[in-house]
Amino acid sequence: MVAEVDVAVVGAGAAGLAATRSLLQAGLSVTLLEADSRSGGRAHTETMRDGSPFDLGCHWLHSASINPFVVIADQLGCRYQKRAVSGRYVRGGRWLPVAEAATLEQALIDYKVAMAAAWSRGEDISVFEAIDRDSPWTPVLDYFTALNTSAEVDQVSIGDILNYQDTEEDWPVSDGYGELVTRWAAGIPVQLNTAVQQIHWDGAGVAVETVRGTLTASRIIVAVSTGVLAAGQIRFMPELPGSKLAAIAALPLGNYNRIRLEIDRHLFADDLPERIVVEHGELPPMSLALRPYQQDCVVGMVAGRYADWLERAGPEASRQAVIDSLCQALGNDMAKHVRGDRQSAWRGNPYVLGAYSASAPGQFHQRAALAGPLNERLFFCGEATSTNQFCTCHGAKITGERAAIEVAASLGITSRLH
Ligand SMILES: Cc1cc2nc3c(=O)[nH]c(=O)nc-3n(C[C@H](O)[C@H](O)[C@H](O)COP(=O)(O)OP(=O)(O)OC[C@H]3O[C@@H](n4cnc5c(N)ncnc54)[C@H](O)[C@@H]3O)c2cc1C
Repeated sequence: MVAEVDVAVVGAGAAGLAATRSLLQAGLSVTLLEADSRSGGRAHTETMRDGSPFDLGCHWLHSASINPFVVIADQLGCRYQKRAVSGRYVRGGRWLPVAEAATLEQALIDYKVAMAAAWSRGEDISVFEAIDRDSPWTPVLDYFTALNTSAEVDQVSIGDILNYQDTEEDWPVSDGYGELVTRWAAGIPVQLNTAVQQIHWDGAGVAVETVRGTLTASRIIVAVSTGVLAAGQIRFMPELPGSKLAAIAALPLGNYNRIRLEIDRHLFADDLPERIVVEHGELPPMSLALRPYQQDCVVGMVAGRYADWLERAGPEASRQAVIDSLCQALGNDMAKHVRGDRQSAWRGNPYVLGAYSASAPGQFHQRAALAGPLNERLFFCGEATSTNQFCTCHGAKITGERAAIEVAASLGITSRLH
C-alpha cells in the first residue's frame, strides 16, 4: 500500500469506484480501500453451477433512459432486456382476472396522489400515515414500497417515494448487473481485504488506519453504507459532529433478499407470465420471477421486516417461504421439483448490514445533509447521499462522481473534472 496519496477512498462499491475513476482521470494519486475480498459491494453477480448469472444485489437498470449504466452496458456488450416484465396476481389461490388486476393501476395512482397531497402541505410523514389503508390492494402496495425502499411503510418518509426520479423503465440485466459493474470497473486499482478502522481528520490532511497499516492523504472520501457508519465500524477521530451522526441515524438500511430455487423451466407452461405476485394467508405478498432469462429457476423476493425475519430464521425458512408461494400459485406438486438454492442475506453481510437506505419519516432532508463535506477534508458519497436516485446502483455511481468533483475543487483543480 502506498503510504501517502492525494485522496483515500473507503469502499469499492459503485460510488467508491466511480469517485476513484474520476480522480485518477484528473491526475490525482488515489488509493481505494475495500474491506471485502471483492469489489462491487451491493452489485454482486454469482455464477450458478449451470453457468447462469444470479444477482444477489442490484439487477434492474432503473430509470433506464437517464441511467448511465445503460450506455456503459452497450459499450461493454453486457446484455440487458429493453422492456418491462409482465406480471399476474394470485390471491388466496385464485388467479385474479385481468379486469380485477387492472384496478391496481388506479390504486397506485391514488397511493401516490395521497402522498403528494401531504407533501405539498409540507408534511414529511410516513407512507403509512399518508395513504388509505382500506384498499384491497394495500398489502400489495405496501409490499411494492418495501421492495423499492427495503423498509416498511411506517418506517419510510413519503419524501423517498415522491423525490425519486422514476422514468418507469426498469430493464433487467441478463448478464447480471454485478457483472456489468465488474466489467466497467476493470482497471480501477483496489486494495482488497483492507478494512478501514479509524479515520483521523483533525490535522492538515487525514490519517487512515486500516487492518494492513496506516495511510495518509490530503482528502478522504467515505463511500460505505449507512449501515456500516451507524454500526460504528469506522471510528472517526475526532467524532463526527452531531448533525452528521443524526443524518446517518435518519437513513437506516432496510432489508431485501433474493432467493433463487433451481427448478426445470419446462415445468412452467408457455402461457405463464414471467412474474407473479402471490398473496396468501397473513403473510406479506411475494413476487416470484418464473424462469428469468430462460434459466432453470424461480426467484422469490422478500423485503422489509419479513426479509429480516426470514433471514434470522435461516436459509431453510426462506427456501420454504418461496416454495409455499410457488405451490399456492401452481399447485403442491411444484415442491418436489425444487433442487438447490442460493439466497442473499444482506442484513448479515458485515460489509453492508442491510439492503439500502430509507429516510425515516420527517427526515428526508438528511440525504442532502449526509452528502455534505466536513472541514474540506472528509467527503461522503454512496446511494444514501443521493437526493433523487437513492437506493440504486446508478445513483451511487453519480454520487461518487459528485464527491470527486468536490474533492478536486477543494484542491483547486476544477478544469479536469466534470
Ligand atoms: C437485494 C438488492 C437488490 C437491489 N436491486 C437494485 C436494482 O435492481 N437496481 C439498482 O439500481 N439498485 C439496486 N439495489 C441497490 C444498489 O445495489 C445499491 O444502491 C448500490 O450498489 C450501493 O452502492 P454503494 O457504492 O453506495 O454502496 P456499497 O455497494 O455498499 O459499497 C460500499 C463498499 O464499502 C465496503 N466497506 C464497508 N466497510 C468498509 C470498511 N470499513 N473499509 C473499507 N471498505 C468497507 C463494502 O465492502 C462495499 O464494497 C439493490 C440492492 C440490494 C441489496
